[in-house]
Amino acid sequence: MKRGAGIFAIRVLRMAVGFFAGLSAGAEENAKPVVIAVDVGHTLEKPGATSARGRTEFEFNVDMARKVKTVLEQRGFRAFLINESGASIGLADRPALAAKEGANLLVSIHHDAVNDKYYRDWEFEGRPQRYSDAFRGYSVFFSEKNPRAMESRMLAELIGQAMREQGFTPTHHHAEPIAGENRPLVDPDRGVYHFADLVVLKRAEIPAVLVECGVIVHREEETALRDPKVQDRIAIAIAEGITRLVRAEESQAAGAEPAPSDLASPAAGAK
Ligand SMILES: [Zn+2]
Repeated sequence: MKRGAGIFAIRVLRMAVGFFAGLSAGAEENAKPVVIAVDVGHTLEKPGATSARGRTEFEFNVDMARKVKTVLEQRGFRAFLINESGASIGLADRPALAAKEGANLLVSIHHDAVNDKYYRDWEFEGRPQRYSDAFRGYSVFFSEKNPRAMESRMLAELIGQAMREQGFTPTHHHAEPIAGENRPLVDPDRGVYHFADLVVLKRAEIPAVLVECGVIVHREEETALRDPKVQDRIAIAIAEGITRLVRAEESQAAGAEPAPSDLASPAAGAK
């Protein structure tokens, strides 16, 4: 049994007093809804990674971001997408758009690739493609340069935990000591990394995390990530992590001591 994140969360909550006071994830009358910015990673012009079968990361990100928004709205949050159209905006424009819309939290949706040295060539439907079956799994990033770094880390832990509960496994390949990786893996069990200079995270003035939902250059994982049922489980996990952070903040604001089970125990997700 792993209680690290729960204990960590309580420590953070004692410091993050009442950030969400007066806000609510529920549908209570007169309560101001918590607003979540769901950022669609990359643009049409620079679409990020290319999957093992030639689909762009941007397309995966749009599909997943829409699902996350839907689940959040079902839970009583107000949610909006950043750059659903794929316009060529800058990285710093994303947190700026979140601020303009009054967002309380930001989650940036991405799909993962691997270091160049792991790629192999193959053909899919008559076209040459590149793939790597070396790594699969999800990752969650936060930045210590975000002014709300403690809550950002807690949100990353809670989303990582919820991904585990939905049956997903984290990948550790971003911690490999090679150029382009070498990211501090602060919670291997939950797939949480620290990545100081991710612009979308460090420039946000609200708690912010980036989720790599899975590795689309891995042939089997790509197939899974195209399955709407798998996508639903990822969207639920991301929304669940957000919900737990907001609930924990609410009970903190109300003066109650949050129980570790409200934050990060595996049982808390089974509703
Ligand atoms: Zn990406």
